[in-house]
Amino acid sequence: MQELTHYINGAMVEGTSGRFADVYNPALGEVQAQVPLASKAELDAAVAAAAAAQPAWAATNPQKRARILMKFVDLLNRDMDKLAEALSREHGKTLPDAKGDVQRGLEVVEFCIGAPHLLKGEFTDSAGPGIDMYSMRQALGVVAGITPFNFPAMIPMWKFAPALACGNAFILKPSERDPSVPLMLAELMTEAGLPDGVLQVVNGDKEAVDAILDNETVQAVGFVGSTPIAAYIYERGCANGKRVQCFGGAKNHMIIMPDADMDQAADALVGAGYGAAGERCMAISVAVPVGDETADRLIEKLIPRVEALKVGPYTAGDDVDYGPVVTGAAKANIERLVQSGVDQGATLAVDGRDYSLQGYEDGYFVGPHLFDNVTKDMDIYKTEIFGPVLSTVRAQSYEEAIGLAMDHEYGNGTAIFTRDGDTARDFAKRINIGMVGINVPIPVPLAYHTFGGWKKSGFGDLNQHGPDAFKFYTRTKTVTARWPSGIKEGGEFSIPVME
Ligand code: NAD
Repeated sequence: MQELTHYINGAMVEGTSGRFADVYNPALGEVQAQVPLASKAELDAAVAAAAAAQPAWAATNPQKRARILMKFVDLLNRDMDKLAEALSREHGKTLPDAKGDVQRGLEVVEFCIGAPHLLKGEFTDSAGPGIDMYSMRQALGVVAGITPFNFPAMIPMWKFAPALACGNAFILKPSERDPSVPLMLAELMTEAGLPDGVLQVVNGDKEAVDAILDNETVQAVGFVGSTPIAAYIYERGCANGKRVQCFGGAKNHMIIMPDADMDQAADALVGAGYGAAGERCMAISVAVPVGDETADRLIEKLIPRVEALKVGPYTAGDDVDYGPVVTGAAKANIERLVQSGVDQGATLAVDGRDYSLQGYEDGYFVGPHLFDNVTKDMDIYKTEIFGPVLSTVRAQSYEEAIGLAMDHEYGNGTAIFTRDGDTARDFAKRINIGMVGINVPIPVPLAYHTFGGWKKSGFGDLNQHGPDAFKFYTRTKTVTARWPSGIKEGGEFSIPVME
């Protein structure tokens, strides 16, 4: 059995707590490795070493720091296949999707190569008589990131790349369900030239997280994961005087207007609803067709597409649409929610229950489910299922449809499919959700914009990546300077002559 490690001071380091968690191969339903769960003492030691390394890193000029990130991008491209394979083996997503996971992180690293420009501050010449004023962005010190299982490459990079580019040292506490890729990323950062101790990967569970939240040296915490944990971390981190941003769960609605291209909408829904087995915070989990006729046409188009989805292990190559869910517990939770939908009266238009894959009977595969006639009071509507389950809620008008999305407690992403510019514009303007797609089902902003949800999907003031990340990982200092007037002529170099 493979025993994983932490990554401390530029090397893989064995855990000393004696506590471990199982890491599965979800396609086989087998334990493939054990990851150490750090004690408070291990976490505190990693933070102390990071604090010792951070001043020299902050004093390194921003362009030299950026060059290390530039080299890191080369190494990510060099090792793309290896990273994707390790990612698929622990997470279960298909290889092309695993490469997308690495790629979407890599793009944020590329954005962070522009750090010298983003950090250069502001200057006012002659703010008063003989007075100049300037503002500079300074690193916070040691900061930490706590990340979820569903993007084990992308989200750690979203966190550590901007933090390091700003001159911070970083403690990464990745998900204990797929920790191998974060460890590989840290190794690549060392190979790219990052000084030891500046990026520490501490594996663990609640004990390590609480130790981060209570450690006085840690200045800021960025979290991505489920909403109850996001709320907990935000509260405890803020109470301890830290800067905190937490991104939580989602229930993303896609509104389909009667004038939408129904084939385009159905294709979009299938990709956005079932891709990565629905284990994406930007997955569409609720379809809201407007009018019964639209709903009937949409369901008619969706059923054959959903039934045709190919579910399988990543080793089957490109011929698979999505893989298993991450653990047996995740699978059981999805099955429980599907059953509640049936019991509470929704129509199961495509029934993925009792799905089994020959040769992979113990894997955590879940067949695709499509619900029709879902209503607001049902658990499958209120809860984030995080599985290959799409719920259709029929709305009788545009106002009812937008109201549904606006009343839901989550506000991560949403989309509208229509040919009418006025409706799309009204939707984008009024909706109380952070990321909006117009005929685009998964509107994940690119690296140079910011990513973040509203309502129970985001806690804190600033978003992830883009310019917001540089604000989150620095604090501003403003200097007002007046120099007494002096002799400006300086030395004389030409031979003095009489006037
Ligand atoms: P999770 O909340 O179970 O775990 C996230 C992190 O918190 C992990 O590192 C985990 O070790 C830690 N953690 C878990 N329980 C804890 C506890 N009791 N105390 C302290 N720390 C704890 O989330 P997950 O299952 O890994 O990820 C899926 C969730 O993440 C979904 O809800 C999804 O919507 C959300 N997500 C959100 C975004 C976003 O940007 N909004 C992006 C990706 C995933």
